[in-house]
Amino acid sequence: MNCGAKHFECERTGRDANLFSQCCEKGKIRLPEYRESPLITALLNGEHRFSVNYKKQIRCYNSALAMISTGLKCDEQGSAGPYYIRIHGMVYHQIGSLIPENGVNPSYAQIYIYDTNEGAALRMGDARNRECEPELMLELSEHIKDINPYAGSFKAVYMAVQAEPDRNLRMFIFEDRSSDRRRYTLPSTTDVAAIFESSNGEPPVGDRHVIVQPFGSTTRVIPMQSSNIDPLGYVLLFPYGDPGWCVDMQQSNPRTRTQTKITQNKYAAYRLSVRREDDFHRSEKLFLQWVVDMYVRIETERLNYIRYHQNELRRDLYLNLFDYVQQGAERDVEMGRMVVLPSTFIGSPRNMNERYQDAMCIVREYGKPDLFVTFTCNPKWKEITEEIGEGEHSYFRPDIVSRVFHGKLQAMKEDIVKKQNIRKCCCLDLYNRVPKARVVTCTHAYFFEGR
Ligand SMILES: [Zn+2]
Repeated sequence: MNCGAKHFECERTGRDANLFSQCCEKGKIRLPEYRESPLITALLNGEHRFSVNYKKQIRCYNSALAMISTGLKCDEQGSAGPYYIRIHGMVYHQIGSLIPENGVNPSYAQIYIYDTNEGAALRMGDARNRECEPELMLELSEHIKDINPYAGSFKAVYMAVQAEPDRNLRMFIFEDRSSDRRRYTLPSTTDVAAIFESSNGEPPVGDRHVIVQPFGSTTRVIPMQSSNIDPLGYVLLFPYGDPGWCVDMQQSNPRTRTQTKITQNKYAAYRLSVRREDDFHRSEKLFLQWVVDMYVRIETERLNYIRYHQNELRRDLYLNLFDYVQQGAERDVEMGRMVVLPSTFIGSPRNMNERYQDAMCIVREYGKPDLFVTFTCNPKWKEITEEIGEGEHSYFRPDIVSRVFHGKLQAMKEDIVKKQNIRKCCCLDLYNRVPKARVVTCTHAYFFEGR
C-alpha cells in the first residue's frame, strides 16, 4: 500500500503508521516509476568531467535540447543571496513547424531533423548557450536521440514529408498513448506520434493532440493540460519521454474500488514526494523551473475553473461591482467580460480581506492579542540538512524546506495552544503568492489567552 515515499513523523494523518495522504492519497495513486538515464545520473553525481558545467548551465542545456519553447519571463538570482526563479506574466508552451523556414535558424524540435553533429553545432551556435561545453552538448544530443522516443519521431515524420511533398501531411503527438493506433492508416506511426493526411488540417480523432505543421512560420500553443509538456519541454528531467499529468489520469480506491480523476495538484505532490534521491530532485535549477511551471499550470487551471463557473459562484451577489461596471458603461468605457475572483481563491483581494475581517472579529471578541509571533524558516535546521544531499543547497529543495517549515509551524502552534492553555489562535498566513521557487515563508500568528 505504501508508495515508498519518505515522510516526517508529523505528516501522519491517520492511525495506520504506513499510510500517508500527502504522497499517494493512502495508496490510491499509483504512477509509473521515475526513470533516469545513466549519463544524466553521472553528470549529477559529479562522476563526469563536465559535471560542474552541467549543473551550472542545466537550464541552458535543457532549453537547447527541448522540443518546445517555454515562454517564461523570469528573473534569476542576482549576484548575491540564494538562487531563485521568479516569473512574470503568462507562461506558455509553443511548438513551431517541423521544417525551418529559409533563412531562419532552426530551433527546438526542428534541430532533431538534422544529424547529431550538425544538431549539436546548431545548439552551440545559439548565443544563449555560449557557456555550455560543445563536447557535452554533443554527448547529450546523441544520448537523447538514442533514448527519447520523441526525438526519433520528428526525424521519421520529416523523412515521410520529404518523400511525399505534394500530400497535405501533418504530424500529431498523442495525448493519450494508450489510444488505438490502428485507426491511423498511414504507416509512419511511432509510439508517441503519428502522421496523417487531412483536408481541413484537423487530426482524425481527439482534440487535445499536439499538431505539428511541416512548413510555415506559425507556432501553436500547447494546452496547459497536455501530458506532452513535461517530456517535450523538460527533456533532461524526463529523458525517456515519460508523459506528465493528463486530464484522464485515474486513481482508484483499493477499498471501494471506485475510480476518480487525479488532479494536477495531487500529481505534483506525488512527483515531488521523495522515494529515493533521484535525478529529478537533484536537478537543481531545472527542478526549480519545473516546480514554478507546475505551480503556474495548477493556478491556471483553478482560474479557468472560476472563469467558466461564474454562475455557480453566484456572482449576482457582488452588487457593488455590478454598479461600478454599469457606471463604466455609462461613461462609454469599454468593459470586458467581468470575472469575479471569489474569496476561496487564496491570495485574491477578497481572500485577504476575509482573513483580515476574521482576525479583527476575534480582536473584537477577545481583545488585543497576547502574543504576536513571526515564524520564519531557517534553512540550516537539522531536519533540512539531514534530508538534502551532501553538497546540495537548501534553496534547490523547496519541497523539503516547505515541509519542514510547515511541520515546525504546526508543532509551535500546538506547543503554545496546548501547553500554555491559550484557547484561541488566529493565524494570518502572509505567504508570498508570487510564483517563485524560492523558499519560504514567514507566517504571522496572533494568540489570545483564554479568558
Ligand atoms: Zn504514499
